[in-house]
Amino acid sequence: MSKPYQLPPMRLKGFLLLIAILLPLASSAQKPEKPNSSEIYEDLRKLSFFGTALYVAAHPDDENTRLISYLANDVKARTAYLSMTRGDGGQNLIGPEIRELLGVIRTQELLAARATDGGSQYFTRANDFGYSKHPDETLAIWNKNEVLKDVVMNIRRFKPDIIVNRFNHRTPGSTHGHHTSSAMLSVEAFDLAGDPTAFPESAEKYGLWQPKRLFFNTSWWFYGSQEKFDEADKTNLMAVETGNYFPTRGLSNGEIAALSRSMHKSQGFGSTGSRGSQTEWLEFIKGDFPKNKEDLFEGVNTSWSRMEGGAAVGAIVDQVIANFNFQDPAANVPKLLEAYKLLEKLPASHWKSIKLEALKKIILDCSGIFLEAVADQQETTLKSDPNIRIEAINRSNLNVKLNGLTSAVVKFPDMFAAVPLATNQSYTASSVSGTFSPLAEYTAPYWLKEPGTLGMYKVSREDYIGLPRAPQRFLVQFNISINGVNMSALRNVVYKFNDPVDGEVYRPFDVLPELTSAIAEKVIIFANTNPKVIPVEVRAGKANISGELSLELPEGWTASPSSIDFKLDNQGEKQRFNFTVTPPANQSEGYIRPLLTSGGQKYTQELIQIDYPHIPFQDVLMPSEAKVARIPIAKRGEHIAYVKGAGDAIPESLEQIGYHVVTLAPKELSLANLANYDALVFGVRAYNTVEELQFKKQVVADYVASGGNVIVQYNTSRGLVTNDFAPYPITLSRERVTDEYAPVTLLAPQHPVLNSPNKITASDFEGWVQERGLYFPSSWDNQYEAILAMKDKQAKEDSKGSLLVAKHGKGHYIYTGLSFFRELPAGVPGAYRLFANLLSIGK
Ligand SMILES: [Zn+2]
Repeated sequence: MSKPYQLPPMRLKGFLLLIAILLPLASSAQKPEKPNSSEIYEDLRKLSFFGTALYVAAHPDDENTRLISYLANDVKARTAYLSMTRGDGGQNLIGPEIRELLGVIRTQELLAARATDGGSQYFTRANDFGYSKHPDETLAIWNKNEVLKDVVMNIRRFKPDIIVNRFNHRTPGSTHGHHTSSAMLSVEAFDLAGDPTAFPESAEKYGLWQPKRLFFNTSWWFYGSQEKFDEADKTNLMAVETGNYFPTRGLSNGEIAALSRSMHKSQGFGSTGSRGSQTEWLEFIKGDFPKNKEDLFEGVNTSWSRMEGGAAVGAIVDQVIANFNFQDPAANVPKLLEAYKLLEKLPASHWKSIKLEALKKIILDCSGIFLEAVADQQETTLKSDPNIRIEAINRSNLNVKLNGLTSAVVKFPDMFAAVPLATNQSYTASSVSGTFSPLAEYTAPYWLKEPGTLGMYKVSREDYIGLPRAPQRFLVQFNISINGVNMSALRNVVYKFNDPVDGEVYRPFDVLPELTSAIAEKVIIFANTNPKVIPVEVRAGKANISGELSLELPEGWTASPSSIDFKLDNQGEKQRFNFTVTPPANQSEGYIRPLLTSGGQKYTQELIQIDYPHIPFQDVLMPSEAKVARIPIAKRGEHIAYVKGAGDAIPESLEQIGYHVVTLAPKELSLANLANYDALVFGVRAYNTVEELQFKKQVVADYVASGGNVIVQYNTSRGLVTNDFAPYPITLSRERVTDEYAPVTLLAPQHPVLNSPNKITASDFEGWVQERGLYFPSSWDNQYEAILAMKDKQAKEDSKGSLLVAKHGKGHYIYTGLSFFRELPAGVPGAYRLFANLLSIGK
């Protein structure tokens, strides 16, 4: 069924894929690498190690960068991190992007982390759909077989000798279900990767592969305490010293690991490096048990002789390493060229292509050769004609010639004779105008091109699956010779400009639609039948473009005018056009979608640009749309005071249904001030994040006693600024209901919050997103009435703490862990109706 390893066919697609796998990561980011002698020397030492390690976990930031850096920099193995997901379900501490856009940021943060610790990065199509208590739930929402297929494919393609799981596959329910699932899938894939009957497509494409052994990267915290770990049987455990110091970098392994971890900035994982000895523990799980518990790769031939004919190449490389000339790295090149010529003649193999690419890079770096292809604009369209300018320079006394430039996307003037690259003399050339061919595809995250499911991305391009990003398509190949030895070097076309503050700034060069549109407000609620003005922004991807803009609407909805003519003069220009949208009388939900037409072409996408200093500039294309919902909501009261917590969009959501919301600083919480408001609402985690609230219990209680309504949204049980914040005691816990479909029982069906002014029924708990709620109180004073009960499938007992209401004096105090902060911004009708009741109680 399976063939031995074969190089992918040299058709363009296969060729580009191969490039994506072989090119070092930094070259796919923005800035060109400019390695110094020490860095080149370390690359050369890495050239002589023939071993591969794969680290496996579930999310961006799960990975142990100490172990990855140790494997990549100390052992010098090819090392990759396979993350099941891109982390869409997390929070964003650095900006407003959530969900898919957060997944884009976290993908790039992983690439930045790997560029720092020397690893590479792979994924599956699994989507981080939010917290999951149990792997059974996780693997049901992910398509288990498809994710397993991706893990097996990644193993067959990357060919690791050892696999290291971050999580324990034997303890379901003890951590995030995604975590346990990642380990379970890895254990299963370990056996399947070598099985010809399992997933024959990837067996056919990449060959079968049997890794040597599988470990679990354990730690004392998996044992509950340091004492328990000290006492545990360590027969199956290997201790690995990962605290070494690298004098060529001036950094310890712990310091590199911290720099890498600090790339997870959206998660607030800035980290301070450590120096000195540090032990990592690896528990043997599967494969060949290592007899010598010092060597992770025991029994794997990690020397040049692993490759047929490799020993002779290795002998030369070893000589260069022993006599490496740091003052004049070009002096190492003649010997390295000997090795290159030998290596080139060896039969095609997995290791040959990897080592040939690495050796070529070392030779170019030793020679001080700099090659670059720069576009004259950051973005272009499928029909534009950007100019690509190349620079080639040789900063050595070696005999270097440029023999030609080839590219599948643009033509350069024919070179009738080789151009000598004289020492330190720059050579430049520009592409022939009218020859740019953008290969008919926009540049944007490939996994977002088609709508997926809750648990899986949909990726039609099989060859992209597993890759962190689509392979670079805009490549220029420099055909050069050094001392008469021919080699080609590929460079990705980039864009760069000079910033008066930052200096030279590199950006990816992207192909984008000629027109895109955006509705800023993503969920628009119509609490009554009054029309709303909805602005649509149109962006030109090229100069001088005109056309027509209209809105696609759900049935029963109308917009005026029915269409608008536009004309934009400049590339990147944005203009706003207003539509007046009228909802139907009855409850109705749907999407409005701007439709742009120009020159017979239709454009339906939104362009989102993400710009943070630690990752490359990102152009993301998504369907242009906004959710609209006509929700008949009755409400009492009008003026709401809001105390901000960790940040949520509740105030904007309440404004949408006609409340006036004023945000108050903690020092403004006085009885006189609060008398102006019908209700006081606390933002999520206010009692975790706002120190001053520990002194505000009395004024809040007095406000309630005088007839006010107070609604406190969820706080985490750990890290409260005070445990004593409510008029009657409440104890918070980590209880949560993560299944957004979990049935809800009305414990107090006659209670006003379920009846007035909106009658709440089972249908109001339909269509919720991500979860029911979190950090529910586990016990409470008998002044509170528990209104609702709910539970996840695996839970033994109902949670009854999701919504607690106490009468206090003339008013009401409400504590709720229900996820209103997710449901209201998502436009969930029942959540709006229930929240309106909470605000209206007693009025
Ligand atoms: Zn995680």
